[in-house]
Amino acid sequence: MEIDWQSLGFGYMKTDYRYVANFKDGKWDEGELSTDSNVVINESAGVLQYAQTCFEGMKAYRTEDGRVVCFRPDLNAQRMIESCKRLEMPIFPEEKFIDAVKQVVSKNIDFVPPYGSGATLYIRPYMFGTNPVMGVKPATEFQFRIFVSPVGPYFKGGIKPITLRVPDFDRAAPLGTGHVKAGLNYAMSLHAIVDAHNQGYNENLYVDSATRTKVEETGGANIIFVTKDNKVITPKSNTILPSITRRSLMYVAKEYLGLEVEEREIGINEIGNFKECALCGTAAVLSPVGKVVDHGKVTEFPSGMDKPGEITQKLYDTLTGIQMGRIQAPKGWIYEIEPAKAIV
Ligand SMILES: *Cc1c(COP(=O)(O)O)cnc(C)c1O
Repeated sequence: MEIDWQSLGFGYMKTDYRYVANFKDGKWDEGELSTDSNVVINESAGVLQYAQTCFEGMKAYRTEDGRVVCFRPDLNAQRMIESCKRLEMPIFPEEKFIDAVKQVVSKNIDFVPPYGSGATLYIRPYMFGTNPVMGVKPATEFQFRIFVSPVGPYFKGGIKPITLRVPDFDRAAPLGTGHVKAGLNYAMSLHAIVDAHNQGYNENLYVDSATRTKVEETGGANIIFVTKDNKVITPKSNTILPSITRRSLMYVAKEYLGLEVEEREIGINEIGNFKECALCGTAAVLSPVGKVVDHGKVTEFPSGMDKPGEITQKLYDTLTGIQMGRIQAPKGWIYEIEPAKAIV
């Protein structure tokens, strides 16, 4: 196997093993690793008809001293439980989830990109309704899977500031599913993202759909701002997906960089007061935002379009330092993965 780590994009690559567990008659089976990357389900499966599916996204990293580690998988397990509850799906227990993640990464250890390559191993747990449904109701049988894929940086061209636009589309209804990682949230964001790209923007910055005055997040990443006096702030809203990267960055800002942090409502009309802005999520880690366009009103952050702002850069360096083992992690953030031993 020869992989050119440097040229990897953010895309799917088939690896050797994936984890598969099935839920039937009210319980999960043992679960196992499989070499089959295809899913075969009934034509009327719940996921195909009514989009009964949710997912997670996380990464495994190769540390400076050659270990393979996973970043806070317990939080992904817990968030998936919340998604499953909201979507009338059976929960996949946290311990089983973490064990499954370890098994898949361990068995695909040669796909974990080398330290310093800029690439990482993306881990995708997901669950979907498998048995036939016709009337609108939850499935009774489900499959939980985890596959992994080595990925390069999410935004091609590295850590360059991007431009957002405020779209005339909503992402999350006030009492809807914006706070859970449901596939349906993404299905309906596809038109908005294609439209944004056609108009020359990198991403959509959604505002709250009730009043269309408050900043929420983009289609797949949370947002943070830095005020002129170096406070790190992030929108408070119960229709935002609780990003693990964002929660980790807020902790890092406070505990490692000694900055003030705050989660509060942020008006779209006040973003001109901030000096830095960045998107955060597992895929992109932290992507600086240079400009936001809201129907002709252009906000250009003082950090500019050439490089990340100073605080954004520090946050990025500290969080990736923790993930890559260069900086001491807070207790419980790093899960070490042992390479799979050959069966003798
Ligand atoms: C997954 C996701 C994020 C990022 O969450 P992380 O846990 O940091 O990867 C942010 N917003 C949305 C809508 C998401 O689906």
